[in-house]
Parts: sequence; C-alpha cells; structure tokens
Amino acid sequence: MTSRAKEITFRGKVESRDVAASLLSNAGDAVVVERGKPRLLILRCPCGCGDDLIINLDKRAGAAWYLYQKRKGMTLFPSYWRDDKCGSHFILWNNHIYWCLGWESEESDTWQVSLEIEDKVYAALPDEWFVSYDQLAEQLGIIPWEVLQACRQLVKQDKAVADKKPRSGMYRRIS
Ligand SMILES: [Zn+2]
Repeated sequence: MTSRAKEITFRGKVESRDVAASLLSNAGDAVVVERGKPRLLILRCPCGCGDDLIINLDKRAGAAWYLYQKRKGMTLFPSYWRDDKCGSHFILWNNHIYWCLGWESEESDTWQVSLEIEDKVYAALPDEWFVSYDQLAEQLGIIPWEVLQACRQLVKQDKAVADKKPRSGMYRRIS
C-alpha cells in the first residue's frame, strides 16, 4: 500500500491543463492552471492512487472551490471529497493534508489558531442566533478552517456554543 501524502508540493502555475500533467510526479504534487485568474487546481491524488484530481476554481464553470494562496501555503475550501475511485476525502490547509472521516478531520485535534484570530471571531459571533463558520470567514476575510478552529477553541472555553447536529458548523457567542 502506498502511503498518503501529508503535504502538497506546489509545482508551479501554468496556462493550460496539458502542460500541468508533465509537472506532476509524486502524490501531493500540485499545479495551478491560471489564465487571468485561477481556473483549476490539479493535484496528484495525495492518497497515492496515482490519479490526478482536477479541482475547479472557476465559479463560471460550475461548482467551484476557493483556493487561498498565502505565505503559509495553499488552502482549499471546502474539503475535497472524491465520490468514486479511491474516495479521497481531505482538507487542504496551509499545504497540509488533513484526512477526513465524515464531517470531522481525523487530525483536527491538532489544529490551533492564534489568540488574535480567536478574538476576531469572538467579536464577530452573534449571541442571539447561530451563524455558520464559512459565512463568518467570508465576512472577516479569514480562511474558513481558521474560523472553524477558532470557534472550537471558544467552545472549549465556554465562550461559544455549537448548534446541534445536523446543523454542524453553526456557532454563536455566549455573553
Ligand atoms: Zn486517490
């Protein structure tokens, strides 16, 4: 059994999908196809199956993911779930691959965000109704995984509360 990649390796930006294939050799290798703006993220499947995942980043071309390209690395939102073949399901956050089991990531207990982000999220959380972490992320201009983790940290400190299932990912502040 091949081992799963824990990180992605950025191999560059190209203008077309054909060129991308030649840049991918190992599990986790990533290429962005960009023409004016990011169109596709092509990822040699981090599970090790050898397939290339073609991830759409262009809303005009249908259901799209959002790719954050920052100093710490690349982040994809929402999680990627392949519903056929190898069935890979993972979160990409700052180049790190977190494998998912259902809604939760198996490594999410190792996630951590700074007090600064925690404070920003706390200040923005409403106290009379629940709000989804991705909506809050958009409002604050912060990577959604960071907002989610900030909410979890706040829940542990009894400063926020999570809504009941199946409304996963909804939080409100406790004043
Ligand atoms: Zn795979």
